[in-house]
Amino acid sequence: RAKKSPSQRVQFFASEFGEQVLHRQEMIRSLKVAIQNQQFQLYYQPQFDRLRRCTGYEALLRWHHPVLGAVSPAEFIQLAEETGLIVRIGDWVLEQAVITLKRWVDQGFMGRIAVNVSAMQLHDEGFADRISDLLRRYGVTALQLELEITETALMDDVERAMATLSRFRELDLALAVDDFGTGYSSLAYLKALPVSRIKIDRTFVTGLPDNEQDEALCKTIITMAHALGCEVIAEGVETEAQAGWLALAGCDELQGFLLGKPGPHGFRDKADSDNG
Ligand code: C2E
Ligand code: MG
Ligand code: MG
Ligand code: MG
Repeated sequence: RAKKSPSQRVQFFASEFGEQVLHRQEMIRSLKVAIQNQQFQLYYQPQFDRLRRCTGYEALLRWHHPVLGAVSPAEFIQLAEETGLIVRIGDWVLEQAVITLKRWVDQGFMGRIAVNVSAMQLHDEGFADRISDLLRRYGVTALQLELEITETALMDDVERAMATLSRFRELDLALAVDDFGTGYSSLAYLKALPVSRIKIDRTFVTGLPDNEQDEALCKTIITMAHALGCEVIAEGVETEAQAGWLALAGCDELQGFLLGKPGPHGFRDKADSDNG
């Protein structure tokens, strides 16, 4: 019997698997206490029109883990979705964003705050009503709140999301399709849904202005968005060359490290803390 190497192999797989499960369970446990221990924070990244006037901010979640330090949402959003924890985390994100919006509006802010929303939130029956309650509670207009949903999440099960999406329309909530171009949109749905903005994914912006394919794709997305009556914003703009090309191509707004990185402060927050 050649028992040595097969059993070793099984053991190897078993321990590696065990490690992953342990890591996963630990992460889930940490995620659960993260809210009550106030380890989450929202960062805000500014968005600009072609004249470089700030039109709004995207709220981006940050997790300050006591041991791991700053954990990117890219590392835990999926786990939060798989475990359903995203609904509670997402509610926290929305309330914080609305509280911030209220503070800024009181200081004269006329722009919008965009909040990222996961598919599971979209399929949660009470979601739209909880947003409506939040807006009423803090006295903020829905017109200044935008919900970002990735193309993939939106198209994943549009039929099931339709009730929530219709409520968004009734409530006047702006809907942006995030990471556009990386999923598979049905044009018929895009036309039917209450979409107000399309966000060109960063992967198409990276190659501008030299990559002809990226140029063609960006032009096509901009033309299509405008034909559907949507505004277009490009994400991940890092160079003046990209910004210049996009503005010339008719892209309405820009977001990216070139114009502003995500940070804990947004509209007048900094000036305020300096008492300026
Ligand atoms: P996203 O919504 O597409 O957000 C844009 C991401 O690109 C952010 O990463 C942002 O920091 C980064 N970024 C912005 N400008 C540039 C640039 O010029 N260059 C480069 N290289 N990157 C740029 P972040 O904050 O790590 O978020 C990653 C993703 O996690 C987000 O992608 C979004 O899908 C998700 N996410 C973030 N916050 C939330 C949240 O509150 N709820 C949900 N459900 N998802 C969230
Ligand atoms: Mg986004
Ligand atoms: Mg995006
Ligand atoms: Mg993206």
